[in-house]
Amino acid sequence: MEENKIPKAKRPRVAVRQQEPQIRVNNFNEVPFGYNEEEAVAEAERCIQCKNPTCILGCPVNINIKEFIRRIAVRDFKGAIDTIKNDNSLPAVCGRVCPQEEQCESTCVMLKTKNPINIGSLERFAADWEAANLKQEATVITKRLGRDGKLIKIAVAGAGPAGLTLAGDLVKMGYSPVVFEAMHIAGGVLVYGIPEFRLPKAIVQREVDYLQKIGVEFQLNVVIGKSYTIDDLKKQGFKAVFIGVGAGTPMFLGIPGENLKGVYSANEYLTRINAMKGYLFPEYDTPVRVGKKVAVVGAGNVAMDSARWSKRLPGVEESHIIYRRSDAEMPARKEEIERAHEEGVIFNLLTNPVEVLGDENGWVKGIKCIKMELGEPDSSGRRKPIPVPGSEFVIELDTIIPALGTKANKLLTSDVPGLKLTKWGNIEVDPETGATSIPGVYAGGDITTGSATVIAAMGAGRKSAKAIAKYLEELES
Ligand code: FAD
Ligand code: SF4
Repeated sequence: MEENKIPKAKRPRVAVRQQEPQIRVNNFNEVPFGYNEEEAVAEAERCIQCKNPTCILGCPVNINIKEFIRRIAVRDFKGAIDTIKNDNSLPAVCGRVCPQEEQCESTCVMLKTKNPINIGSLERFAADWEAANLKQEATVITKRLGRDGKLIKIAVAGAGPAGLTLAGDLVKMGYSPVVFEAMHIAGGVLVYGIPEFRLPKAIVQREVDYLQKIGVEFQLNVVIGKSYTIDDLKKQGFKAVFIGVGAGTPMFLGIPGENLKGVYSANEYLTRINAMKGYLFPEYDTPVRVGKKVAVVGAGNVAMDSARWSKRLPGVEESHIIYRRSDAEMPARKEEIERAHEEGVIFNLLTNPVEVLGDENGWVKGIKCIKMELGEPDSSGRRKPIPVPGSEFVIELDTIIPALGTKANKLLTSDVPGLKLTKWGNIEVDPETGATSIPGVYAGGDITTGSATVIAAMGAGRKSAKAIAKYLEELES
């Protein structure tokens, strides 16, 4: 082909086909279609197979990126997915939601030409190819028995990416993990936070089903700290405990009127829509009352997800983002911000809410804001927003969604004697093992770091699985 005569370094990225904005705002389906075989091979052929592949160092779990891309280029798709799975057990998830532009792709040498290899889409391709072409083999794993002749059980609190990764690794080593999940569904933020149009739920469910097939037990609707304490779990015979309960307590604006009807935390809003299918009310039980105009306060991934979901809900005419800094400081992934713009989300930048306004029945009718300007950088390194005196104005609204970040939920942590916490209320751990201040109790993911990334939570789960295996070997020897 003519295209192949162009030197690799000069070939442009193979574009990812996606749903057109005017079509996708009317459905809930995934936005990008992903590469087909020809596109994936063409993109993989652009990789120059560096002697020192810096991309691998940029990946938090050090996937052998160079090798899996080489396999795709020679059409060995099975070899590609096997290579990825040596280091990452959820590639279909990570290929879709990892911030590759800040990780592997930011260290790819091709960035010099402004055309880094599209590593995320290649990872997604390999995972989707496997799902479409290979039967999921559920090998029977011989269970280890303890000195008492019983299964060696490990309690895992939370079925998010940290807990799922840990449980998968431990079951493959012959241990018997039992995952206790507070919700009626496993997957954590992957199912109740990240929207269907970014990460289809069926992909997460497939991974959960696989874990079940290979011997991970799930107990749903069980809240550790309330249904059972950590002590109860030990008394029930669990030899070790892993806490992967995430950081699910929302932060609020702290302004007058925030308790009016029509203000939802982003957590509640996304959970009602994603996990309880609120967008299909009354077919499903959970209503989400949004009205015609919605505003999301904040500009991270959670804010973009909430604003883009709002655009898709029946009856919504305007979906706003309100953010006190400028577009340069928005923390969300660039591609999600671009998609929000394409879908018609209205960005009110350098704008800060000062009061939520209500009607005589206690429902939200608007938000009073003040314009901001940027001053010197603050402790976060970003320029500090300063109010412009006398610039207050009102945006008329039906619904307001603060998406300002989350912190640790105290339900479990406040009732475990001897469990050391950081000053932010996260569990203090050895970063190499996840060991807490209590022997046999480990923790990882957002509950130890605060809200971070899927891959970081998975990496923590993997480290703790190794450490727990070592601990149990010593305990049972
Ligand atoms: P979680 O995923 O929060 O899972 C914790 C689980 O524990 C939950 O299922 C919860 O119900 C359960 N639980 C809580 N308390 C208890 C208890 N007491 N007993 C039993 N179970 C309990 N990261 C990215 O990398 N890319 C993205 O694009 C991205 N987008 C995001 C969008 C949204 C809307 C949100 C909210 C987060 C996003 N993140 C993203 C962050 C990422 O999802 C999290 O960092 C990651 O899920 C943390 O994993 P975890 O396993 O620590 O916790
Ligand atoms: Fe390929 Fe970029 Fe990695 Fe080099 S750094 S091996 S070009 S993906």
